[in-house]
Amino acid sequence: MADNIVILTGAGISAESGLGTFRDAGGLWSQYDLEDVATPEGFARDPGLVHEFYNARRANMLAARPHAGHEALARLQRHWPGRVTLITQNIDDLHERAGARDVIHMHGELSRALCAACEHRWDAPAEMQPDAPCPQCAAPQTRPDVVWFGEIPYHMERIGKALSEAQLFVAIGTSGAVYPAAGFVAEAAQAGARTIEINLERSEVAGLFDEHILGPASQLVPEWADRMLEPRR
Ligand code: NAD
Repeated sequence: MADNIVILTGAGISAESGLGTFRDAGGLWSQYDLEDVATPEGFARDPGLVHEFYNARRANMLAARPHAGHEALARLQRHWPGRVTLITQNIDDLHERAGARDVIHMHGELSRALCAACEHRWDAPAEMQPDAPCPQCAAPQTRPDVVWFGEIPYHMERIGKALSEAQLFVAIGTSGAVYPAAGFVAEAAQAGARTIEINLERSEVAGLFDEHILGPASQLVPEWADRMLEPRR
């Protein structure tokens, strides 16, 4: 039987599509304070600023295109004879636009809106407004459906099950600085999985991986995926 593969992606896989990572000097994240735009307290203080930040990120996302790395993961999902579970910390939709299926967005999605009053969810318009009423309960408390610092990531039960059944775990473009995702490599290793990191540089949890493939995701992810699929062609 073919291995169960679990893949975790982070901001680094979208960097070459033009979406900035946390660390990019001069990027969107450096112009705003994380406490102001990515915490429930920041949203309570100034919902207008938070919407402005995510509206700008949504506009960037809509202008961006998936690259060969996103496409290679979708190809691996289509052709691998075993299970390929794709978990992303990214709130962009580049995996889906490259053809990936059933992507687990543990930090939510820019393209979705959430009512802070009744938890109803719907497709976000390109420009969200702070006082727009919820289509279900009419409360003017709509927010982007993204997970902020201090909130619990989505789908943790499903992720825990996938990690416990993984034979191969691959982390791509993630710094290993944000938990719980940074702990997934240890969970997978404990379950007996072989672990590979594909990143521009060694991550903060690099010591926990069996193998490191260092360089840009747009080049190295297709090479790795092709090596995986090669004997099967
Ligand atoms: P991070 O910014 O902390 O780290 C990104 C990592 O990617 C770094 O280790 C960097 O060396 C690596 N990297 C940069 N360019 C790369 C490339 N071309 N190829 C391969 N690797 C590259 O990102 P993270 O670990 O995902 O941080 C977590 C948080 O950042 C998440 O909560 C996520 O929601 C948020 N975030 C998301 C996006 C997005 O949705 N596109 C963008 C920025 C931040």
